[in-house]
Amino acid sequence: MTIVHCHVCGSRNLRPSHFQLTDLAYLLILRLPVRCRSCRVRFHVSILKIGKVRRDAEARRDRDQHEERMTQAANPDWRTFKDHK
Ligand SMILES: [Zn+2]
Repeated sequence: MTIVHCHVCGSRNLRPSHFQLTDLAYLLILRLPVRCRSCRVRFHVSILKIGKVRRDAEARRDRDQHEERMTQAANPDWRTFKDHK
């Protein structure tokens, strides 16, 4: 399985970036913009790999939400600061 890394910092913490007019040139060579969440650099990856970036971003979001719940469970006092859903 191909893993997409940031070419600047090597992080896998990437997300699909918003499409801009300048990305059209990249689209012609089948590349789409992604943003590195670690160093904020914007670059382009093959359209064949963008699905992998999306899945990674979704998995990471789910994991972050899970960790947030676990943190709240470990620190019950935290719930007094906001409404419990
Ligand atoms: Zn980076």
